[in-house]
Amino acid sequence: CGIVAGVSGRDIVPVLVQGLQRLEYRGYDSCGVAVHAGGLKRARSTARVAELMQQVQSEGIASGTGIAHTRWATHGAPAVHNAHPHFSQGPGDTEGATGRVALVHNGIIENHDELRESLQAKGYVFESQTDTEVIAHLIDSLYDGDLFAALQAAVPQLHGAYALAVFHRDEPHRVVGARAGSPLVLGVGVLDGQVGTEHFLASDAMALAGVTDQIVYLEEGDLVDLQLGRYWVTNAQGRPYEVAERPVKTVQ
Ligand code: GLU
Repeated sequence: CGIVAGVSGRDIVPVLVQGLQRLEYRGYDSCGVAVHAGGLKRARSTARVAELMQQVQSEGIASGTGIAHTRWATHGAPAVHNAHPHFSQGPGDTEGATGRVALVHNGIIENHDELRESLQAKGYVFESQTDTEVIAHLIDSLYDGDLFAALQAAVPQLHGAYALAVFHRDEPHRVVGARAGSPLVLGVGVLDGQVGTEHFLASDAMALAGVTDQIVYLEEGDLVDLQLGRYWVTNAQGRPYEVAERPVKTVQ
């Protein structure tokens, strides 16, 4: 339903959670946030975003890298274990393991059953009934040190509609995303008077109101790679677009 994500040199958890609050009016059944803080950390709730905010504060969840989501369930009941962000902990015995890949998703993956079967055959253990969790494990299975390359390899296997935001335990200052059938925008942040020192993704530019009005509207099939102080928008093959092809626009 709603996505807010970003990479910055400052703690952006308040930006993520306030962004979710701006998307609340669309309706949702659960919400969650995950950050890179040494390893992966997350908080999820079937209550209001205000409750998630309290959870985040009491657990001291803070980071410059994170993703957040409001969910409107399509596959799997509204419940904390089905709320995003979803983690992949890699295949095999995951007892006590913390996550490697964290992911939020808007939309529907039509071929989730066949993807789940093939990932289970590789030893991936599923914790939810969502179509979304298959994407986290798929990206983990394709990961070889470069999250953007893993996303690029995963996307052709996904049939359906999606906007995605993803980060990886081994790449603390990177969030990657994709847009196909569900909206996603990139927000170029202005921090201490400098443009482009932090970057955000959101399902609607409105989620970033008060943070940045410098917006790149992603188009169908676009992939995006956010790193500290830099970003690339590319086509599905990973070819970066020129700034003129994906211009930064000032929203009112
Ligand atoms: N299909 C996903 C789920 O049920 C995402 C739903 C949404 O867009 O919020 O978890």
